[in-house]
Amino acid sequence: MISDQTNGLGPGFVKGDYHMFQRKPTEEVVKEDTAVWECSSDECKGWMRANFSSHSEGSPTCPICGSKMDEGTRLLEVIPNPRKF
Ligand SMILES: [Zn+2]
Repeated sequence: MISDQTNGLGPGFVKGDYHMFQRKPTEEVVKEDTAVWECSSDECKGWMRANFSSHSEGSPTCPICGSKMDEGTRLLEVIPNPRKF
């Protein structure tokens, strides 16, 4: 006896397309290496954008723990409209 039952998924369901519903088409976020100051303390995650700091010479101190900060780079989202002073 041949069963005429479907597999329960219903018509129009294409299994191969399932993964497409898990990926939202999001706008590409532009990121680039940005100069930052990073806290030299291993236990502190403090950092700031170098061009946002008011220090023009020497190393700033971490606003969180007060340690010295080292120059570094981070992959950060590009700010499309930097405020001009
Ligand atoms: Zn710190």
